[in-house]
Amino acid sequence: MSRLWNFSAGPAALPEEVLLQVREELLDWHGAGCGVMEMSHRGKEFTGIAQQAEADLRELMGIPANYKVLFLQGGATQQFAQIPMNLLPAGRSADYVVNGSWSQKAFKEAQRVAGKGAARCVAEVEGCFPATAEMDLDPDAAYLHVCTNETIHGIEVFDEAALPSSVPLVADMSSHILSRPMDVARYGLIYAGAQKNIGPSGLTLVIVRDDLIGKAPASIPSVMDYAVMAANDSMLNTPPTLAIYIAGLVFQWLKRQGGLAAMAEINRTKAAALYRCIDSSRGFYRNEVAVDNRSQMNVPFILAKPELDAAFLAESKAEGLLALKGHKSVGGMRASIYNAIPQAGVDALVAFMNDFARRNA
Ligand code: PMP
Repeated sequence: MSRLWNFSAGPAALPEEVLLQVREELLDWHGAGCGVMEMSHRGKEFTGIAQQAEADLRELMGIPANYKVLFLQGGATQQFAQIPMNLLPAGRSADYVVNGSWSQKAFKEAQRVAGKGAARCVAEVEGCFPATAEMDLDPDAAYLHVCTNETIHGIEVFDEAALPSSVPLVADMSSHILSRPMDVARYGLIYAGAQKNIGPSGLTLVIVRDDLIGKAPASIPSVMDYAVMAANDSMLNTPPTLAIYIAGLVFQWLKRQGGLAAMAEINRTKAAALYRCIDSSRGFYRNEVAVDNRSQMNVPFILAKPELDAAFLAESKAEGLLALKGHKSVGGMRASIYNAIPQAGVDALVAFMNDFARRNA
């Protein structure tokens, strides 16, 4: 077996230490006589696992007591619909910033669920996150939706304090949650698919302020109602037990790394090395995102000579560098350098990129 450096955008690399622990515990979890996949979600073993995962996440992110933590299914895409179903009453509208594919999908799905006029696009921009002054904000909006890290385009919001705060802020943090400290109290709702920085796919995290839930129309399906899921500790029905267990191991791994402040430092250094390589390539590689919004998690870049794309991908793969092809909607390359990719992985990528540029300039 040889594990290569995996730059997949998601499902993405998981910390090797966590995978080894999963392997160790797969057939018999802590003497239970069976693995976590095979035990009841209502038994004391699994409820203990889920409670510990929530407690560790609360500690890592500093989640205030008046926020619920929900472990749901359906991916971030289901949240595109579930958010308006829960937070957008009939007769009102919600604001959406559109600055990439995921915020666009969230906006379109809200229009589908709530009606065209019930979701307003307040700014549509490319290659950056817009300043508040550029947003046509509605002071009466039920919420403002933003995607704080556009995974495909590599656009990240760093200045949380500058985000508008007059209405509850709803943030899709799928691809940068847990990469650095975030001020949870600035947001009404934070959501994320697990398959990047949290754990396996199949689990979706929702962190929501108490006062925003419990107002969905009576016709909402119970599994879609945040209030029902919260009242049942996310176990109205069978939750994705294996994914919750592995997410819990990832949270413990993050605590051992020194928590999110330590991850922030590591992630800053990793991203800086990669952007330095791109910027010093004399145009051989280019990243076109506004410098202040360059993502520390997803680094897209294009080659000045696209005829070299195929060779770049083939040779990088032969060097043990996986999944560098950019999303099909934008082309080029993308290196996703989530928490589980250590500095050594980025160093290997930079060494390859420098060498490839030297040989093909
Ligand atoms: N939002 C963002 C920012 C994403 O990166 C993704 C998936 N790559 C999604 C939403 C959709 O997530 P899912 O596949 O879990 O529905």
